[in-house]
Amino acid sequence: MSDPENESTATSLLAPDEIGTTGTGLWRRDDHYYIPDGNVIILVENTLFKVHRSILANDTSIFEEMFNPSEHRDASEEPEDGLSDELPIRFPEDTVSQFRALLWSLYALPADLLQATNGDSCPEQRLLDLAIITNKYQFRTTEKWCIDVLIQHYKTPNVQIDPHMLPSLSQVAKFCQSKPLLTFVEGWWKRLSIQGGFYDIMIETAVRHDFKRVLGYAYHGLMLKGRTEWDKYPSLDREHRIRVLAGFYNLTKECANLHASPPTFVHHTTCGPFRLLCEAQWIALWKEITRSNGLYDSVSGEKGPDYLGRHLLVTGTINAILENRSVMSSMVNLDNCSDECLKLALAASRKRQRDTQNNLLQYFLDI
Ligand SMILES: [Zn+2]
Repeated sequence: MSDPENESTATSLLAPDEIGTTGTGLWRRDDHYYIPDGNVIILVENTLFKVHRSILANDTSIFEEMFNPSEHRDASEEPEDGLSDELPIRFPEDTVSQFRALLWSLYALPADLLQATNGDSCPEQRLLDLAIITNKYQFRTTEKWCIDVLIQHYKTPNVQIDPHMLPSLSQVAKFCQSKPLLTFVEGWWKRLSIQGGFYDIMIETAVRHDFKRVLGYAYHGLMLKGRTEWDKYPSLDREHRIRVLAGFYNLTKECANLHASPPTFVHHTTCGPFRLLCEAQWIALWKEITRSNGLYDSVSGEKGPDYLGRHLLVTGTINAILENRSVMSSMVNLDNCSDECLKLALAASRKRQRDTQNNLLQYFLDI
């Protein structure tokens, strides 16, 4: 079956006199998926679909049990719903767009599906609809395929994600409880919070779907951009502004004290008799990067309490030192810090960075 979305007109398999409303005058047969030799009629919103039970029962979906009842049931007890336009099976909680997306995935030709994986012609909205409905009706492999295609699409070089798609992607990620998609959308929100812009939809989405980390990123980004940025968003009411101010107060204190609390780690065995020297040099390195007027302030134009940025600079600097020992050598002597211990320091710093991200929101709640 060809792809309905790619047809210039709603070419139907039905003869013209069969297109239109049903006997009640309330419903309309779908232009594409009211298939003459189908054997079940389904009503979604105001649209009738006539499809094949065996197709819907694919992929171990919940339709398998619905359409293939146990052998013990008497055929005479079979419900008559779904056999006529006047008595369709009703799916009141679905949308026509979602149900069409499901049927597209079940009836599409390989070439149509392949086209969906092409970055330039990926039908984003259809895949979002498909993810929701396949999750709901437990088309497990189709759901996974759909989410994989979406992620790959947005990872394709030169494909730019429209920030206005992020709320829908976030909704799908949460609805499907897809860890890869949740990680992916959170990464995009984080990037956006640093670039700036769209803070209103970021906060609205984070609140709606309980994305605590994303809400923390949004407040942190807004805080650093300053009041001129806040004023661009009329929806940012007093409550949000107070939270941003609370974050500014709390994180100013945290940034000022950060140099005094380097992450601890158990030194590598090769450290041996130099352990105390190694420890002192690691503490000096941490302090140099995070202290006021230290490395962070010399390389960053940021004037606000950029708590995330300071942690990011620590891990980035240790990585750079591991690749090139001369980095930072003019500022801090690391002669007694072996690569093994620097890797352990890096792991401890990354954990501190993750913990900071996970708990960022707390700084914007209490004053
Ligand atoms: Zn050591």
